[in-house]
Amino acid sequence: RGLKKYFPITGGLFGKVQGQVKAVDDVSFYVKKGETLGIVGESGCGKSTTGRLLMRLIEASDGSIVFEDKEMTSLSKNELRKTRRDIQMVFQDPYASLNPRHSIQQILEEPLIVHGIGSKEERKKRVREMLEVVGLSSYHARRYPHQFSGGQRQRIGIAKALMTKPKLIIADEPVSALDVSIQAQVLNLMKDIQQEFGLTYIFIAHDLGVVRHISDRVGVMYLGRLIELADGEDLYENPLHPYTKALLSAVPVPDPDLKRVPVPIVGELPSPANPPTGCAFHTRCPECMDICRTTRPKAFEINGHLAACHLYSK
Ligand code: SF4
Ligand code: MG
Repeated sequence: RGLKKYFPITGGLFGKVQGQVKAVDDVSFYVKKGETLGIVGESGCGKSTTGRLLMRLIEASDGSIVFEDKEMTSLSKNELRKTRRDIQMVFQDPYASLNPRHSIQQILEEPLIVHGIGSKEERKKRVREMLEVVGLSSYHARRYPHQFSGGQRQRIGIAKALMTKPKLIIADEPVSALDVSIQAQVLNLMKDIQQEFGLTYIFIAHDLGVVRHISDRVGVMYLGRLIELADGEDLYENPLHPYTKALLSAVPVPDPDLKRVPVPIVGELPSPANPPTGCAFHTRCPECMDICRTTRPKAFEINGHLAACHLYSK
């Protein structure tokens, strides 16, 4: 609730603070147990920062993060470590997150060692189990990251996230680095695993097409702000915010009878260090009104569908 992350901009000879980037600027949402919330936006919109804030990999400038009634922002180091068992992350680049000098056995058992879970034999057993869960084999435990393809490495990244039996997985563009043919396999795997283990997902992507089939609800971010949030179907069938409409018009539609009028996004993405006044999208919005240049729109709700846009303020 009200999540903010402001990074200082420093410069000059003495590294003086010259301003700030509002990477995440007053973002609020919830995730229900067992569902998938997709978070979508262009690079630099604050979606990855939001994921990292939720994990407390970085500290929020302001706001509240509640996980199972616990206020995450005020947990002690020790309490935070325990909670981290329940929340795991899957990263975009599986290769960068796997130590090239460690065998898959070492990589996968590391979270268990960190959390003091299981004996050596039990850890070995769990590694073998999880490799099979993600569609690899127990003999892969002896191999090293460079011996796997990109898709297999992401399967290993997913197995690693599963080791501590988490409840929530925050996946930050888990398929963006993979070939399109492999993307579908990894998405299907993540869906199956969610069913099997009753997991909750926050699934971050830069493309509305990727999250469509995995998300129950979808939120759209623009320049650090959450500008629309709705049930997946509702968002795709009936987008409200002009930015979402423009993003969606770029997603190919499988049905040739359903023609979408393409609404190109004009102009450059403004710098997050110097966002436009009022509505951050007003410099690129085809429906911009006078009020949009001066007043930041609140999130207006229409039948459970949230849109931060003055078109819906009546
Ligand atoms: Fe466009 Fe105004 Fe809505 Fe912003 S508030 S998206 S500028 S219509
Ligand atoms: Mg990112």
